[in-house]
Amino acid sequence: MAFTLKERQLIGIHGLLPPTVLTQEVQVQRVMNSIKVKPNDLERFIYLMSLQDRNEKLFYRVIQDHLEELMPIIYTPVVGLAGLFISIYDKGNVKSILRSWPEIDVKAIVFTDGERILGLGDLGCYGMGIPVGKLSLYTACAGVKPSQCLPVMLDVGTDNKELLDDPFYIGIRRPRERGPAYDELIEEFMQAVVERYGETTLMQFEDFGNRNAFRLLDKFRNRFCTFNDDIQGTAGVTVAGLLGAMRITKKSLADNVFLFQGAGEAAIGIANLIVSALMEEGLAESDARKKVWLVDSKGLVVNNRSKGGINEHKQPFAHDHKYIPTLAEAVKVIKPTAIIGVAAISRAFTKEIIEDMARINENPIIFALSNPTAKSECTFEEAYQYTNGKCIFASGSPFPPITKKDGSQIIPGQGNNAYIFPGVALGVIAAASKTIPESTFLIAAKSLANQVTDEDLKQGRVYPPLTDIRKVSRKIAIDVADYSYNIHLSNRLPRPANTAELIDSFIYSTDYESFVPHTYEWPSL
Ligand code: NAP
Ligand code: MN
Repeated sequence: MAFTLKERQLIGIHGLLPPTVLTQEVQVQRVMNSIKVKPNDLERFIYLMSLQDRNEKLFYRVIQDHLEELMPIIYTPVVGLAGLFISIYDKGNVKSILRSWPEIDVKAIVFTDGERILGLGDLGCYGMGIPVGKLSLYTACAGVKPSQCLPVMLDVGTDNKELLDDPFYIGIRRPRERGPAYDELIEEFMQAVVERYGETTLMQFEDFGNRNAFRLLDKFRNRFCTFNDDIQGTAGVTVAGLLGAMRITKKSLADNVFLFQGAGEAAIGIANLIVSALMEEGLAESDARKKVWLVDSKGLVVNNRSKGGINEHKQPFAHDHKYIPTLAEAVKVIKPTAIIGVAAISRAFTKEIIEDMARINENPIIFALSNPTAKSECTFEEAYQYTNGKCIFASGSPFPPITKKDGSQIIPGQGNNAYIFPGVALGVIAAASKTIPESTFLIAAKSLANQVTDEDLKQGRVYPPLTDIRKVSRKIAIDVADYSYNIHLSNRLPRPANTAELIDSFIYSTDYESFVPHTYEWPSL
């Protein structure tokens, strides 16, 4: 209904539409009205997906304008999604499958093997929903062009018994491949992408299981343009929050002691980036590591711990210290300035722990990052109440603001990875980076932290409002692209005089294109 009268007449659809010509703004409102009356999020998701098929520009305009509200819906892993399915049985033939994808100018791929989807575990082939959702956010948050995005599901089987027994399951019916064939498929896939779309095609690992995620990142990060959002995006957004917190405590990062509840992809990713940040502040690596402590499912991670092994990723943070079985006790002994919860154990930050944090620190940093809300280590209200309003709080899932007695509101920061990965992706794509070094995420973290205003901090949040995410992502992209040029990783040469203009040239517009055909006159023959 946005077709103009002239377009309707010229392309022969006049009369097929009601007479009103709608602006895109009004269309957005109509879509939002339809979404509101749907009975549940699944229906909302299905409606949004059909909109995406029907009118891509309107779809992105809607989610761009209503991101906070729609993000959880876009993120639902559901069936029947567009993307490329490559299975372990296709090994040796991946190149020819890639040719099935109609777009020839792909710049960003998000791919998963579905082993650890969100907090939901092994979803097998249904994991496709997550690459699709992530790439929607590439577009909605940073403006990466949808046609340049390709979601990929690498189906290597599933260990989810329910799926294997389900006659309606859509994936390959076998246990997960754990042998050399698994790595061979990933390698073949990444090489085939480079061959078809070029060596600077961004390939984001998403929701891989713990045992593969670190290993594959280490294996491929220096050879391909790749990163892992669960590890590195999380690290970027959390370190940004910590840098924001430093503006409240008026300390430097080196004045802190960080205690993690959890020692998985998120925790190790954040811990490593904290170490990078501390080394930039001038600390030696070994001293920097001593500021970071981990508690995993077996208790405090210490050297020569008899209980539970310590894998190579935890090892750098295993200190010479007596073993402590619980987080509560670890808080009392280690006296952290910050506790960061990323173990998906709900209510792990008890009243006792939060009160101890307030006794130890003037402004305790309490980041309850586990998702979804039900898994959060504590609520904003608990952190606020048990610290008499002194805490610096951020969470993974949103919490409502608290209204103080004077009527002013304290708004909790949401450490959402969407602050980081879309902007990093846009910067990397625009600069045509060959690889993405770890330091890129420190650049992104600082860029994000620098965009937090004093007003934001006064309201209690260490992140800018989510509604500013387009602006925030654009600035991160500029800083990331500049960095890529500075360290000579860019393949787009010569270096443009104005990086902002380069970035803007890569941003998708949701404005409708004119359907009036281009016409012109000839001189008389
Ligand atoms: P993961 O790789 O599976 O790691 C989970 C970790 O939690 C493991 O180290 C595990 O210990 C530990 N753990 C389990 N039970 C525990 C207990 N009782 N006490 C202490 N530690 C325990 O998962 P992940 O990717 O790191 O994600 C973890 C959580 O962080 C999820 O809820 C996720 O939603 C959240 N997250 C949030 C953000 C964000 O807010 N931006 C980003 C990423 C992730 P073992 O090593 O001993 O098994
Ligand atoms: Mn993920």
